[in-house]
Amino acid sequence: MYQHKRIAIFGATGSIGLSTLDVIAKEPERFSLYAISGYTNLKQLAHITSQYQPQVVHLMSYDDEPVFMDYLDQLTSSMEGFQKPELRFGQGGLCETASSPDVDAVMAAIVGIAGLASTYAAIASGKIVYLANKESLVVAGELMIQKARETGAIILPVDSEHNAIFQCLQNAHHTDVKSLVLTASGGAFRDYGVPDLKHVTLSQALKHPNWSMGAKVTIDSATMANKGLEVIEAHYLFNQPADQIHVLIHPQSVVHSMVHYKDGSVMAQLGASDMRLSISHCLYYPQRSQHDFTDFDPLTLSQLEFKEVDWVLYPCYRLAREALGDSQSACIVFNAANEIAVERFQRGACDFVDIAFQIEHVLQSMDYVRHLTSLDDVVSLDDDVRRFMKGLYI
Ligand code: NAD
Ligand code: MG
Repeated sequence: MYQHKRIAIFGATGSIGLSTLDVIAKEPERFSLYAISGYTNLKQLAHITSQYQPQVVHLMSYDDEPVFMDYLDQLTSSMEGFQKPELRFGQGGLCETASSPDVDAVMAAIVGIAGLASTYAAIASGKIVYLANKESLVVAGELMIQKARETGAIILPVDSEHNAIFQCLQNAHHTDVKSLVLTASGGAFRDYGVPDLKHVTLSQALKHPNWSMGAKVTIDSATMANKGLEVIEAHYLFNQPADQIHVLIHPQSVVHSMVHYKDGSVMAQLGASDMRLSISHCLYYPQRSQHDFTDFDPLTLSQLEFKEVDWVLYPCYRLAREALGDSQSACIVFNAANEIAVERFQRGACDFVDIAFQIEHVLQSMDYVRHLTSLDDVVSLDDDVRRFMKGLYI
């Protein structure tokens, strides 16, 4: 038997959010969708609302209500018995839902620091948290893991590498693990030389060779800031020191990650490049879904390659690792500076190679060392980095 789960999807209009809706739709008797959230994409949010009929819909601004309701009315006017959802607003609304007794599990799939408060609220309320929003663990890993210990919250990793490691660690003793190996596709520019990166465009950076994902994580894959964030994420999730977390470029993205045990055994998890696999692993955990999304045929694999990361080609990866070796404050600075630099690159305010330059410049020139004891301390340092960068670049 299984326990029916009432789920809130934060970031329902994004790549992970939509894949989660797909997984839920396979077995509506097992999952009910209590709440969803979106951001600027109100039409899509209205569409999801009409299709899945959640009880609560989150808008990030009160100003969005008339436009959203207009879209929703157009879509539902001829639907008999359609119950209008309750609307909640802003970060406060997300936190209210994250801690509501009507919710069993939260899919944390907002991108960036905007997902921090609601993810933390879900952990503080002892929920099951399906963690896609890696940035929140990067900036507040210690607080989150400590809080989960206190409340009994269960954090299940959605990120494919961490989900793979989580699966490879089943029934393992912490002391038997020698190292973790995260695999990386190498992103859009893995076959480029350092001089070629000077001239790359946004649309080139957005072409991931293996995965279809949201814009920020796709650009983070091209710089490999993403893998840096994932090393930090793995450090907190699996309680492993940085020097026991290795990364290998694996262009085929078939081996999602590996665990080396001290006895010489290596456990790897393989599969198609489809996030619905790790999402459904989380949603059904500790059971497994009976629905397959993508065929995986080992006979189609001609080769599996692995190689070391080139730290010169991927300076953002180096900077993330250095931040982890430095302090939690440095990780917050890395994350905020990366978010801002990526956003500047997206709107044409800087070149691709400037992303790493800007992060390094902020880490070198800002006085960021803080004693962090609360989420407010984290948010305050994040704000300071954003202000500092505004002063430099706008
Ligand atoms: P996306 O850009 O496709 O979707 C992001 C979601 O967050 C959208 O619903 C958007 O409306 C919402 N959002 C954006 N800014 C917001 C704000 N300021 N306030 C409230 N909501 C906001 O992103 P994605 O690719 O689905 O990634 C989501 C998270 O999952 C990221 O942290 C990413 O690193 C992680 N992740 C994604 C993938 C993937 O395959 N897409 C894989 C691993 C991890
Ligand atoms: Mg990943």
